[in-house]
Amino acid sequence: MRISRSSPPRPEQCVLAESVPVSNRELVVLGTASQAPTRTRNHNGYFLRWDDEGVLFDPGEGTQRQMLLAGVTATQVNRICVSHFHGDHCLGLPGVVQRMSLDGVAHEVSVCFPADGDGVAIFRNLRYATLYHDRVTIRENPVTSGGVIAKTKAFRLAARKLDHPVPTVGYRLTEPDGRRMLRERLAAKGIEGPDVGRVQRDGRITTRTGETVRLQDVSAPRPGQKFAFVMDTRLCDAAFELALAVRNKAVSAYQQVMDLQF
Ligand SMILES: [Zn+2]
Repeated sequence: MRISRSSPPRPEQCVLAESVPVSNRELVVLGTASQAPTRTRNHNGYFLRWDDEGVLFDPGEGTQRQMLLAGVTATQVNRICVSHFHGDHCLGLPGVVQRMSLDGVAHEVSVCFPADGDGVAIFRNLRYATLYHDRVTIRENPVTSGGVIAKTKAFRLAARKLDHPVPTVGYRLTEPDGRRMLRERLAAKGIEGPDVGRVQRDGRITTRTGETVRLQDVSAPRPGQKFAFVMDTRLCDAAFELALAVRNKAVSAYQQVMDLQF
């Protein structure tokens, strides 16, 4: 993980893991300030690039501009996850949603947020805070209880209620477990090029010598990557559950923010 503390105004990019064959995963930290921004630190905002999907967490005030500085476009955001409705975690929502409309984002954008405490009404107040030409398709996804709230090919998204004076949830993305191809074993069996994809897809392949090679003969189990987003909570079981599941395989945003604040 690379975090530069010498140039805080610039959103930082962190590579999540080195050993995973998919390289297009990173966390772009757009801001880490809490109630008041500083000259060098914007309000909260975190963009997680996960293969073809972009998840924006807690778009605080100024997130749209921070995205511009970081090279993140509104079109790249497929999903927005709000931990709670304190301003430093959500006041950028109107700007981001309106920018999506301005840019003509064609895909549906799911927005997750705590349902408790009139969450839907607060979200709609933010979404329609000003007049604009509303063209983006938003799917409201209020989180009513803990558990899996979304499934895609690339990950499962789970939420848990946290312990903060206002309704707050934490999130965790979990990639399905997979297998890591072993280069030496592939070479020893003479499997190369498109045949590597075939054995991955079909689970076995017959080589030129007539030998049947199974996927498990040339690969090893690879636990799926995980990412946890835990904000503003007192210590509680749910926070531990979300964060401990991540361990060293990926990045806990909570830990990352703590790192940046020192
Ligand atoms: Zn808060």
